[in-house]
Amino acid sequence: MGEAERGESAPRLRISFWCSNRHETQPSFASDAQIPDTWDCPRCGLPAGKDRESPPAAPRTEPYKTHLAYVRERRSDADGEAILAEALAKLRGEI
Ligand SMILES: [Zn+2]
Repeated sequence: MGEAERGESAPRLRISFWCSNRHETQPSFASDAQIPDTWDCPRCGLPAGKDRESPPAAPRTEPYKTHLAYVRERRSDADGEAILAEALAKLRGEI
């Protein structure tokens, strides 16, 4: 058990990835693991690549923001409709 705990039987490689915001992350991989082409930046969530000079292009919108914007958009749409419905109801004297 001692050897495994010291990691001597399973050397690990630290691979640097850079995202388009120039964040560097260095996940470590088992020496026999397949190194992925991209790695999600833990700081901003953008895909990071192994080539510092040409990180993967950021998706058109960041995942987190996309979801948040989507929810916000839907919510404001719903709110807008509710407000409109209420305004119309008031105009009709229903409230
Ligand atoms: Zn980043």
